[in-house]
Parts: sequence; C-alpha cells; structure tokens
Amino acid sequence: MAKHMDLPNLYETGIDDLVISAEKVAHVQLTNPLEHAMLILIKSGYSSIPVLDTQYRLKGLISQPLILDSILGIERIEFEKLSEYVVEDVMNTEIPCINEKDGFFKGLKLSIDHPFLCVVDDEFIFKGILTRRALLKFVNRYLHESSVR
Ligand code: AMP
Repeated sequence: MAKHMDLPNLYETGIDDLVISAEKVAHVQLTNPLEHAMLILIKSGYSSIPVLDTQYRLKGLISQPLILDSILGIERIEFEKLSEYVVEDVMNTEIPCINEKDGFFKGLKLSIDHPFLCVVDDEFIFKGILTRRALLKFVNRYLHESSVR
C-alpha cells in the first residue's frame, strides 16, 4: 500500500513535536548585565536568544549586534558599559512568536521571515522555540514520504 496514506493531514498538524523545549533553549533574564548576555551568546554560538522575566514570561530578544551597537561610542567601543547596562536596556521587544496551540502552517508562514519563532502559551509564558531548520526538516521528510509509491 502507498506509504503516503499514513501521512498526517498538515491542516490538522500542530507544532508541538517540532518545538525545542524551554529547558533546552539558551536564554537570559531582563536584569542580567550585557556582559553576561554577551558570554551566553558567544559560548552558545546562537545569533539571537530570548529574554525572559523571573516568571518565565517572554519579554524580548537579544543579539550580539544589538549589544555591540549599544556600547559604540563616537571614537571607541565603550566596553565598560557591558557591566553598566542590563539586557532590558537594549533588547528588541518585537518578537516573532507563535502560540503553542497554533498549527503547522502558521509556523511555516512566519518562519519565512525569521530563523526561529518563540513559542508561548496564552499567558505569554515561554515554552520553547520553533526553528526554520526543524520545520524544513519536517517538510523535507514529508515530501519524500509522500512521493514514495
Ligand atoms: P538553527 O536552527 O540551529 O540554525 O537555529 C536558528 C536560530 O535559532 C539560532 O541562531 C538561535 O538564534 C536560535 N536557536 C536555536 N537553538 C537554540 C537554543 N538551543 N537556544 C537558544 N537559541 C537557539
């Protein structure tokens, strides 16, 4: 029998199985000094990571370019500011995100413009991330399996 008969209906498919859960996602807190955020970004190798409050609510995104831009003086890079400013001062509050109950196609559409989406619940509690990589991996496997006759 054709293998594609077993494939899920994508209109009824959620994103849960594709999400990297919050415990595995590198993140920083609003009150962390920029120095700490810089260390996490460099050590993890990720270009941008979520910013959470103490209740695990999603508040923003922080990246190396944002941090470097904030310590750029007129004539020199003011490295001392890394310990003076906190993450909340420079983070980006426009966060590409998706509700954990949203469907696969919403995730796919949003990921066209973003390498990853933050996944939240109805209270904006951070649940994890949905990466474009995970979505493409799923689409690749789905298309291959639907072509097998
Ligand atoms: P990737 O799909 O691994 O290329 O990840 C794309 C982007 O998602 C990375 O550049 C990070 O900004 C973010 N990302 C992926 N995995 C993690 C993680 N475990 N912790 C924090 N951010 C992540």
